[in-house]
Amino acid sequence: MAPELSSGTGLYIDGAWRGQSHPGLDVFNPATGHLVGSVAAATKQDVDDAIGAAARAFPDWSGLAPDQRSGFLRSAYQQVVSRSHELARILTLEQGKPIAEAEGEVLWGAEFLLWYAEEIRRPWGEILASNSANQRLIARRRPRGVVACITPWNFPSSMILRKVAPAIAAGNTVVVKPAEQTPLSAVALFEILHEVGLPAGVVNLVCGEPDVVGGALTSSRHVRQISFTGSAEVGRIIVEKAASTMAKVSLELGGSAPALVFADADLDLAADKLSFSKFQASGQTCIAVNRIYVERSIADEFGLLLAKRAAGRRVGNGLDEGVDVGPLIDRKAVSKVRSHLDDAISRGARVLVGGGAPEGFDPDRFLDPTVVVDVPPDALIAREETFGPVAPIIAFDDEREALELANGTEYGLAAYLFTRDLGRAYRIGESLDFGMVAVNDGALGWVQAPFGGIKGSGDGREGGRWGLEEFLDVQYLSFNF
Ligand code: NAP
Repeated sequence: MAPELSSGTGLYIDGAWRGQSHPGLDVFNPATGHLVGSVAAATKQDVDDAIGAAARAFPDWSGLAPDQRSGFLRSAYQQVVSRSHELARILTLEQGKPIAEAEGEVLWGAEFLLWYAEEIRRPWGEILASNSANQRLIARRRPRGVVACITPWNFPSSMILRKVAPAIAAGNTVVVKPAEQTPLSAVALFEILHEVGLPAGVVNLVCGEPDVVGGALTSSRHVRQISFTGSAEVGRIIVEKAASTMAKVSLELGGSAPALVFADADLDLAADKLSFSKFQASGQTCIAVNRIYVERSIADEFGLLLAKRAAGRRVGNGLDEGVDVGPLIDRKAVSKVRSHLDDAISRGARVLVGGGAPEGFDPDRFLDPTVVVDVPPDALIAREETFGPVAPIIAFDDEREALELANGTEYGLAAYLFTRDLGRAYRIGESLDFGMVAVNDGALGWVQAPFGGIKGSGDGREGGRWGLEEFLDVQYLSFNF
């Protein structure tokens, strides 16, 4: 089968594309298994060249006035928005999510370009109280230098822009490594970054094998920061490797988001919000609700409300009209979700809806939105990140038990809470050991807010002024005159 997209080279280094004669990495459509394109795999020399180009570009780029850097980000924003259909199609072809969701992701990513084009023009230093009349103390912020950005496959467009926009707005230069399964969105974004005339070396793209690219990025003394979004497992490897260069590592890792639904909540609202959280991107988002704790008196009723919403979602190829839930990224992902489901069933859980693949669809690629009830709290599905469209419902008896269950995880990214009791919302919201808590809501990724986790979910923050501070060092100047 001929590729559905023309193949780019995948290596954008020092303002030019290269790699036409390199071995290629093939990219497949998760819905069909068909080849959609291929990109060149970077050699260690390519990565070193990209780091070198970024290091050479840094003095001039960081020396520009913030307003000058801002202009490039604005132009890129306009381009991404005007080409959002084309970018969304590429995203769906390589990642599988429904085309409307893909376009939403592209436009959300673009928002970070616009936000940081503005944010960089705001004050970012302080004059401190001095100890004598002829002393002045100033705390200012300054860019770090070369930043490596490593991104996952589940949000192949927005995860790049959520890092690159603040990093370059702040005056850093970047080398980006996208996930192997979804590099075509990155190539398309870099075509835009090239067209808007960013100076050579400010942004560089290296697709390729994680050991080759990751090894070069984590061992170079020119790389002053590694901004990583992905699994906790790989996050740990990166921290260990980067220890040799003392590069700052910012980690945006996985989670096992709990939701607590109390009997006093608006149950229809809770079912709507959690249905969105669980089934968006087929459950493959880091803040997808992973385990739903429901007050025992309403557990059966809530299970039915969620099951109704799950059953109403249409599964299929993300390019087809009316599809709400696409395929999972690959067979390994499907088999992990199934193993979680099988484990829950073997421990007494009941499937209310779903549990298999829809009629006529490949069961190694697609899974129906699924709701399981009577799940014991120690089931695998309640302990590990499932990353698939299965919603487990676990009953609880009181606030204290609900909080203990929710906090009983090594992860700390996102949590959800549904109640009409304002006192309880504050009490529980503040006691949840998570970087983000949504009360009566199912979404958290707003451009102006600090997205990020605590504990095993990493400590990076993306979005808002926190997302800019992430890419800046504090420098303190003491003047005596
Ligand atoms: P992953 O396997 O950890 O991969 C993430 C990125 O790291 C990919 O580009 C991968 O490259 C690269 N990588 C793998 N091994 C590496 C190494 N030794 N050195 C350097 N880079 C290496 O994660 P994923 O499966 O793509 O993404 C899913 C995970 O991301 C989930 O756990 C999800 O919760 C998390 N996530 C978190 C956030 C957040 O904001 N907190 C957002 C989205 C996703 P290859 O693709 O080439 O292997």
